[in-house]
Amino acid sequence: CSTNYLQHFCFYENSMNDKSIEEQYVVNNMKEALENDQFIIYLQPKYDLRTNTIDGAEALVRWNNPEQGLISPNVFIPIFEHNGFIVNLDFYIWDQVCKLLRRWLDEGRPIYPISVNISRVDLFNPKLVDTICALVNKYNLSPKLLQLELTESAYTSNPQLIKKRMASLREKGFTILMDDFGTGYSSLNMLKDIIVDILKIDMRFLSDCEIPGRGENILGSIVRMAKWLDLLVIVEGVETAEQVNFLRSIGCEYVQGYYFSKPISIGDFETLIAKKSTF
Ligand code: C2E
Ligand code: CA
Ligand code: CA
Ligand code: CA
Repeated sequence: CSTNYLQHFCFYENSMNDKSIEEQYVVNNMKEALENDQFIIYLQPKYDLRTNTIDGAEALVRWNNPEQGLISPNVFIPIFEHNGFIVNLDFYIWDQVCKLLRRWLDEGRPIYPISVNISRVDLFNPKLVDTICALVNKYNLSPKLLQLELTESAYTSNPQLIKKRMASLREKGFTILMDDFGTGYSSLNMLKDIIVDILKIDMRFLSDCEIPGRGENILGSIVRMAKWLDLLVIVEGVETAEQVNFLRSIGCEYVQGYYFSKPISIGDFETLIAKKSTF
């Protein structure tokens, strides 16, 4: 590669190759990884701003790879969503979370609802609702303990289907969070048709805001609208004390983010809640 153009081209080619090598690795090893319990759950605490206490956690998967260490879900989730393996992984994660909740109950530990992520691919599974109900029954749990995070972008591709699934899950007593609210193209349109319990907004969506103060005004308006609609709001990606003060001032109920805690291992989460659940 001698000219600039070619340099650019070669760089592009290489990164494409790296990507497909990475993808090959993921695909070749996914089944074995699931069988060998290499997918592990990290928990990121959620806090209630009204009481300054922990009020739950989100389960986030990591691949504990013997050769490469912890691999981020951003690397393998898109691949699994593409090849369908996400359905197996998500079922495994939900099962592990229910098992954990059962253990906490049996050990008499303080108990908090844990939210799990539901991929838009899972929504196509006609047995989804039965599968999730069977899990909470298997571990004899209240559906209130397993919260379900559905990403807003799922709505765009199949509004009727998501509407149906959400309605039946809510009917069974599950709490539904609309993840990444406001980043898709149909947030408001969706809200007029679908009943959810909690809107989840990523603070980081304000970071590329070109007009100073605009993002904050929009966030404030979403929280006011949520109150009118009887919805709760959780803001994630909270990193600074200023953000916490702002969110408090607009009446946001829940927060999650590095300012409070990064996602941590189950053991560390248990230590955290045994030590102190306030901030
Ligand atoms: P998400 O559901 O929107 O999760 C939030 C992501 O933001 C997590 O990344 C979390 O670690 C990160 N985060 C939380 N607070 C902060 C903060 O203050 N600052 C910054 N910079 N980041 C923060 P993570 O764990 O890498 O997960 C990425 C995505 O992978 C998730 O986005 C979710 O879409 C997907 N994912 C993770 N676990 C699962 C799973 O078990 N099933 C499915 N289907 N998807 C999952
Ligand atoms: Ca095993
Ligand atoms: Ca989520
Ligand atoms: Ca999110």
